[in-house]
Amino acid sequence: MKIAVLAGDGIGPEIVAEAVKALRALGLSMEFEPALVGGAATDATGDPLPAATLALCKAADAVLFGAVGGPQYDALPRPQRPEQGLLRLRKELGLFANLRPALIYPELAAASTLKAEVVAGLDLLIVRELTGDIYFGQPRGIRRLDDGQREGFDTMRYSESEVRRIGRVAFEAARRRSRRVCSVDKANVLETTQLWREVMTELASEYPDVALSHMYVDNAAMQLLRNPRQFDVMVTGNMFGDILSDEASMLTGSIGMLPSASLDADGKGLYEPIHGSAPDIAGKAVANPLATILSAAMMLRYSFGQEEAAGRLERAVAKVLAQGWRTADIAAPGERAVGTPAMGDAVVRAL
Ligand code: NAD
Repeated sequence: MKIAVLAGDGIGPEIVAEAVKALRALGLSMEFEPALVGGAATDATGDPLPAATLALCKAADAVLFGAVGGPQYDALPRPQRPEQGLLRLRKELGLFANLRPALIYPELAAASTLKAEVVAGLDLLIVRELTGDIYFGQPRGIRRLDDGQREGFDTMRYSESEVRRIGRVAFEAARRRSRRVCSVDKANVLETTQLWREVMTELASEYPDVALSHMYVDNAAMQLLRNPRQFDVMVTGNMFGDILSDEASMLTGSIGMLPSASLDADGKGLYEPIHGSAPDIAGKAVANPLATILSAAMMLRYSFGQEEAAGRLERAVAKVLAQGWRTADIAAPGERAVGTPAMGDAVVRAL
C-alpha cells in the first residue's frame, strides 16, 4: 500500500502527522511518500501542484491530504493559488465520486445546533458526483441580448454512464452499511434529473439487496433538518451535493471531526478532512486531528479493502471520545482540552 502524503498548509502538517502515526500503529505494510502541495509548494517551486507531486500521486495507491490555503496566498495570480493545486489534482486523478459521512458521536451530540434528540444516532453518507453537472456543462457564459441587457447561462447535463457510475458507488457503499440509498433529484422540473432518476431506477435492479428511494432536492434539504436519521446513503449530482453535503456536515456541529473521500473509477482515492487549513490556529498544536484520522480509515476501507483495520481505527476514535479526550473545538465549556499530538497519542493507545 503506497500512500502519497500531501500535508499542505496551515494545520495540514500537524493533523496529517497524527493520521500517519495512527496508520503506522495498525502494523500493516504501508509506504508513506511525502510531497509538497498548495501554498507550501508555491513557495518552494512557484506551482501549487508541482510535476513531481502529481507523478507521485498518480503512482501511489491512495493520497492522504491535509488542507491548503492561507491569507498570504490570496493575492497571488489564480494559477499559483493553493486551491488550484487541489482542483487540478482532483481533475488529473479523475476523482468523480465524493463521499462524505456525517456521523454523530453520542458524547458530541450537544455540539449540533439541532436538538440532541433529532441528531443522536445520525449516521449518514452523502455520495456526490464531482466532475459533471451544471458546474462543467457547456455552453456557458454571459452574453449580450438583442435588447442590450446581459444574460448569464449554464448548462446542466449528465450522460447515462456518468449517472450509472456514481450510482454504483452509492449502491456499493450502501452494501457496507444499512442497505438503503436515497437518490436526490429535481425530476419534476429538470430533464437532466428525470434521466438521473430513470437510470438510478434501472441500476437498482442490479442491487436487489439495497432499497432505493427518490426524493426531490428541496424536500431533501428540509428532511435533513427535520429527521436526518431517516437516511443511510444519499446520492446526488454535483450542484445539489455541494449544498446538501455542507448542510449534512453541519448537523454534527464539529468541523474537526468530518472526513471525506474522493474516488476514481478503480477505487483509488484522495482522502482529506472537510475543513480547511485553519490559519487562525496553525502552528499552535491545538487542531483536532480526528477528521484526518477518520479520513485515513476511509482510505483503508475504500482504496485498500481493509474493512477490519478501518473499523479498528474508527472504534479507536469513538473510544477516545468516550474516554473524555477533547481538543479545544469539541470541548464543552469547562471540559479540559488537549493538543493535537496528545489526541493522536490517545488514538494510538486506544488501538
Ligand atoms: P477552515 O475550515 O480552515 O476553518 C474554519 C474554522 O474552523 C476556523 O475557526 C478553524 O480554526 C476551525 N477549524 C477548522 N479545522 C479545524 C480543526 N481540525 N480543529 C479545530 N478547529 C478547526 O475554513 P476557512 O477559515 O474558511 O479557510 C481557511 C483556509 O483554508 C482558506 O485559505 C481556504 O481557502 C482554505 N480551505 C481549504 C480547503 C481544503 O484544503 N480542502 C477547504 C476549505 C478551505
